[in-house]
Amino acid sequence: MISNETTNGSKRGHDDSNNEHKNTKKATIVQNSSSSSSSSSPPTATQYIIPSSQYTSLPPELQSINFTNRISWRKFKPYPNTTHNLPLTPIHTQPTFIQNTTKAALDFHIHAISKRARATTIHLPKGRKVPTPIFMPVGTKGSIKSLTTEEIMEDELGGLNCPIILGNTYHLALQPGTELIRDVGSMISAHSNGNDVSASGGGLHEFMNWKGGILTDSGGFQMVSLLKLAEITEEGVTFENPFENNVKSDDNKDYSNEHDDVDTMNDNKNDNDDYLSSKRMLLRPEDSIYHQNNIGSDIMMALDDVVSSVTDDNERFTIATYRTLRWLDRCIAAHSKPNEQNLFAIVQGGLDVSLGGLREKCLAGFMKRDDSIPGYAIGGLAGGESKDDFWKVVDQCCKALPDDKPRYLMGVGYPLDLVVCSALGVDMYDCVYPTRTARFGVALVRGGSGTMRLKSNEFYNDHRVIMEGCKCQACAGGFSRSKLHILLKRGNPLATALMTNHNIAYMMYLVRGMRDAIMEDRYEKFVNDFMKDHFTGKENGGEDIPQWVRDALDAADIKLDIQ
Ligand SMILES: [Zn+2]
Repeated sequence: MISNETTNGSKRGHDDSNNEHKNTKKATIVQNSSSSSSSSSPPTATQYIIPSSQYTSLPPELQSINFTNRISWRKFKPYPNTTHNLPLTPIHTQPTFIQNTTKAALDFHIHAISKRARATTIHLPKGRKVPTPIFMPVGTKGSIKSLTTEEIMEDELGGLNCPIILGNTYHLALQPGTELIRDVGSMISAHSNGNDVSASGGGLHEFMNWKGGILTDSGGFQMVSLLKLAEITEEGVTFENPFENNVKSDDNKDYSNEHDDVDTMNDNKNDNDDYLSSKRMLLRPEDSIYHQNNIGSDIMMALDDVVSSVTDDNERFTIATYRTLRWLDRCIAAHSKPNEQNLFAIVQGGLDVSLGGLREKCLAGFMKRDDSIPGYAIGGLAGGESKDDFWKVVDQCCKALPDDKPRYLMGVGYPLDLVVCSALGVDMYDCVYPTRTARFGVALVRGGSGTMRLKSNEFYNDHRVIMEGCKCQACAGGFSRSKLHILLKRGNPLATALMTNHNIAYMMYLVRGMRDAIMEDRYEKFVNDFMKDHFTGKENGGEDIPQWVRDALDAADIKLDIQ
């Protein structure tokens, strides 16, 4: 961890550095969302705050780095300029946690590699373990819409076998408030265990009775998704009251790659929620970590300065990249439970993959802080950039980041993207796409376009299930396409639940199939089979394999045997 990286700390407040976006409003800021708070966020770590005149200056710790070489550290074969084989760990090896290190709450075992694709197990506290590649369904407010905890549970009871889900800190902080999650969880835990409340932990696991892993985002993503309501300063992000305007709507925008599963903000609110009105929320790095410590997620994300990938403003990207490093230091300093919860850093830097470019600078900054980082995420993508730009950033980050820590690609959930990015070396994914598209009546399937639009009249008389052999509650429950079509047309909520169940089941089949193929070192064949299923060629009435897919797989050393 870097300390004293900055010059004179400015005083805490909104009067120093907040002119980059929107007008400054003087108002009472609500830092923590619950009035019943028994403790509060740490104060701003002012030593990391710098004057605005230095926002675009190369951070001091990067000034000695040789940017004429590509940034990378702890790489093994098959990556370039490496001679050592990656140490592999047998699959049933027990985890070893080492207090006060990045292995205090996470042990990462790589079992097999196939080309650059990896099959690993991420061991988390309390026996939770995540086999990768993995897709994490998004449970924005402590539940995955229309699924019960039992349905998503990883167990032998016929659940969907999800080992880890994602929660959104911003939404949980707004409602019900993370102090309530912390305290109610503690009370439930104490009640069931007979333990002292203060000693029992609590948190979202107990709150939603979920035994698997939980990853929470930092809340930072909402600075893009709710941009019109967010003001970004050196100190943090101030969100306007999102309930004053119905800021999200399903109708006019493609939300497929987002990772907070909220249809409309007013969905959150009912008439009794007076306590939600007239609030602004300041989310500083210290607040984000405070909330995530309250939630008790196994993996927390650092608050980063996220800029929409299609923004055409290089200075803004530069400011955001350097700020992401300073905010990471503040997150690390504020983290009160490093021996129980893992804090991942998020690579930013826009689409600049050039030698010495912004992505390289962010990576170099993380290399300097590697001793404090148990895992890494690739952020700032899936925001409307071209697929050509997208895969090149993923490729660069996978080539740079150390092989002995997990890599998480944020907000990505199209099956094709998972297949390609795992070939490049990504381990973890999340996206609202499978659950949100289910609510529109779209089922994910093998082959063809990969989707089945069950509201379409062609299914009116189709008595097959969505996908033969699928064990989801729709397919195994005998719900025909025809029945689902009728339920969907009538807006029956059962249809939404069944479709969601199927789509998460599909994603779990996909990642398990990828993992099995990597374990048996046949990922290249898996990719070829997937591409043959989904791209039958224009001459056959289907689609050709997109050029970006070919280019990305070429970079991953995966040969396609189809034209
Ligand atoms: Zn199914």
